[in-house]
Amino acid sequence: MEDCIFCKIAAQQLPSAKVYEDEQFSVFMDINPVGKGHCLLIPKTHHEDVFTIPEDLLRDLIVVAKRLAKAIKTGMNADGMYIWQANGRAAGQLIPHYHMHFLPRWEDDKLTIGSWEPVAGNMDEIQAVAEEIKKGF
Ligand code: AMP
Ligand code: ZN
Repeated sequence: MEDCIFCKIAAQQLPSAKVYEDEQFSVFMDINPVGKGHCLLIPKTHHEDVFTIPEDLLRDLIVVAKRLAKAIKTGMNADGMYIWQANGRAAGQLIPHYHMHFLPRWEDDKLTIGSWEPVAGNMDEIQAVAEEIKKGF
C-alpha cells in the first residue's frame, strides 16, 4: 500500500535493522525500543489490524512468532518474552499495518510497561542486537 511505512520496509524501499524474513513475513528492530531487543514481526502484505488480516496468514504468523520468540530468548539469553499487538487508534496503534511487538525480559530488568512515548534508540546498538537475535535462529 502506498504511503505505508511497513509496506516500504517489507519491500526494502526504506531501511531497517532486519532480523528475519521469508516469503510472507519480515522481522526488524523497532527504532524506538521500549527496551533492549524490541523488534516487530509483520506480514509483507498490507492488512491493517487483527480485524482484517486473513485467518490463514495469522496461522502462519503465529508459527513464525514462536520461532522468533525462541530465537530472541536464545540469542539474547533472555528469561522471558513480552509479546503484544495493538489494533486501532483507541488501542494505541500508531502504524496501521498489522504488527506484533517482541520484547525480551530479564528477571532484573526493572522495566515497567504501560503507555509510552516513542524515544529514538541508538542505531548502532540496535543493529548489534539484531545480530544477537539472528544467532538464535
Ligand atoms: P504501534 O503503536 O503498535 O503501532 O507501534 C508501532 C511501532 O513501530 C512503534 O513502537 C514505533 O517505534 C515503531 N516504528 C515506527 N516507525 C518505524 C521504523 N521506520 N522502523 C522500525 N520501527 C518503527
Ligand atoms: Zn502496509
